[in-house]
Amino acid sequence: MTITPHRSTTGNERNCKDFSYKRPISQIIRERLERENVSYFANDSIAEYITAAERELLKQEIEEKLQSLFDSLIIDTVNDHNTRETAHRVAKMYVDEVFKGRYHPMPKVTDFPNAKELDEIYTLGPITVRSACSHHFVPIIGHAWVGIIPSDRVIGISKFNRIVDWVMSRPHIQEEAAVMVADVIEKLIKPKGLAFVIKAQHMCMSWRGVKEPETKMINSIVRGAFRTDPHAKKEFFDLIRAHGFNDHC
Ligand SMILES: [Zn+2]
Repeated sequence: MTITPHRSTTGNERNCKDFSYKRPISQIIRERLERENVSYFANDSIAEYITAAERELLKQEIEEKLQSLFDSLIIDTVNDHNTRETAHRVAKMYVDEVFKGRYHPMPKVTDFPNAKELDEIYTLGPITVRSACSHHFVPIIGHAWVGIIPSDRVIGISKFNRIVDWVMSRPHIQEEAAVMVADVIEKLIKPKGLAFVIKAQHMCMSWRGVKEPETKMINSIVRGAFRTDPHAKKEFFDLIRAHGFNDHC
């Protein structure tokens, strides 16, 4: 009796074969970033290296991975009407909402000449800060204040809110986030003085871990005249106290 060798049609082999044809979009994007020598840490923007069409494919890939996470968490997403679409919702939320600062370009910010040559300090705040900690992927919620001593370029005041929102919409640690926001503002308008303060609560400290709901973290960045002139620095902190710094988290 001769035994005919079994043809390679088992589920596993089929999957392996399919996988070799179809590379995940995340792998294609990662290889592109590595070729260009671009860092892709959690708090880096990689929007310049992804097309809108690739972003859609990326959401599909993330949805599949989240589904397998829920499978591993042993949640019956087939029969549980509450979690049936959760993988889809969370993938969309990551890419288009809470982490949009990684996958979507910075909102357009037009700068104008400082026609009246204003050189007084102005401050803005509170600006709502919504982010997530890159250690635990749970929310960081708080407020920020900006202080500017203008040079020859200015931007509309609402643009500060948009910049803060874009930079903060990534997984972060607060100290690095503050530096990143300051860098973006500095690059845009090169002010004579720049101050930026974040005061925020970290859910990784209140929801889990030490479970302390009252602790807040404050970071301040002072550059240019705010660093060299103690009067300017004091004026900034006096002004943000008047802007509710003590009351808001
Ligand atoms: Zn954390």
